Amino acid sequence: KVIVFGSINMDLVARSHRLPVAGETLRGHDFFTAAGGKGANQAVAAARLGVPTQMVGRLGGDSFGRELLAGLQASSVDTGAVLVDEAAASGVAIITVDDAGENNIIIVAGANGRVNENDVERLKNWLPEAAALLLQLEIPMSAVLAAAEAGRQAGVRVILDPAPASLDIPQQLYPLVDIITPNEVEAGQLVGFPVDGQESADKAATILLGWGVGNAIVKLGDRGVFCATSQEKFFVPAFRVQAVDTTAAGDAFNGALATALAEGRSLREAVVWGAAAGAISATTAGAQPSLPDREMFNRFLGE
Ligand code: ADP
Repeated sequence: KVIVFGSINMDLVARSHRLPVAGETLRGHDFFTAAGGKGANQAVAAARLGVPTQMVGRLGGDSFGRELLAGLQASSVDTGAVLVDEAAASGVAIITVDDAGENNIIIVAGANGRVNENDVERLKNWLPEAAALLLQLEIPMSAVLAAAEAGRQAGVRVILDPAPASLDIPQQLYPLVDIITPNEVEAGQLVGFPVDGQESADKAATILLGWGVGNAIVKLGDRGVFCATSQEKFFVPAFRVQAVDTTAAGDAFNGALATALAEGRSLREAVVWGAAAGAISATTAGAQPSLPDREMFNRFLGE
């Protein structure tokens, strides 16, 4: 079983020919809502690949909350540990995109910002059954730290996606993490020098191992993935696809990585699975709509 402890958001996406400047009202030409939030995306990514998946997090007592809950359930995510926080609004991301694909995003954490130690207590009920615990940074850092501690104590593999990029990761988090999975921007933020390609990813991964993480996986977008364990270093090239929208490629990667490990596959195979799921998700627009089911995934891998 895979458990995700993290954020659940509704993405509100408006498209206009260009982005508005301060004080300006623009006419847009397209609008849609889509379920998102890094936590929920990773849960849906894992569940669609067929592994039992539990989401632990918070929604607001509003219509977005009800819609998001139904969406998770429709993707076979177990929502028994999702709390509807009546005092809060559901997390939202207000996204504007222009015709060139440039965007502006405002994220309002809402209920996600209220995740705390009480939610970690709920999480603990499910840890004994889990093969992997997936964490990201769209909830308060204190809750991430407490969840990682609980995961480590229960002997569950803790996988941290240090996204969105953050400067305030406490040093004591790293030794609790079995696998850290930054992209280039996030890796650069963590180690304090630009990460761009294999050579700098190798340097960054070595530093992360020195801080106590078990394995460091640096996601290099359309180039692939660099991996460092205590035993070996290796590179997995990206699958070649026609990319349309790489939103949630990183979440697809983490969901597939955890699924493969829960199925007892090796880390190297799990990284190939992550790269495949990331590539597939890049070929379709939107966050959760772009995440493949097992049939599509197996066809892509030629199995
Ligand atoms: P994030 O979404 O966190 O920024 P990346 O963009 O690095 O992460 O994507 C995660 C993984 O998904 C990559 O390491 C790669 O394996 C795969 N991927 C992402 N974009 C593409 C692409 N355009 N073509 C092929 N694979 C991709």
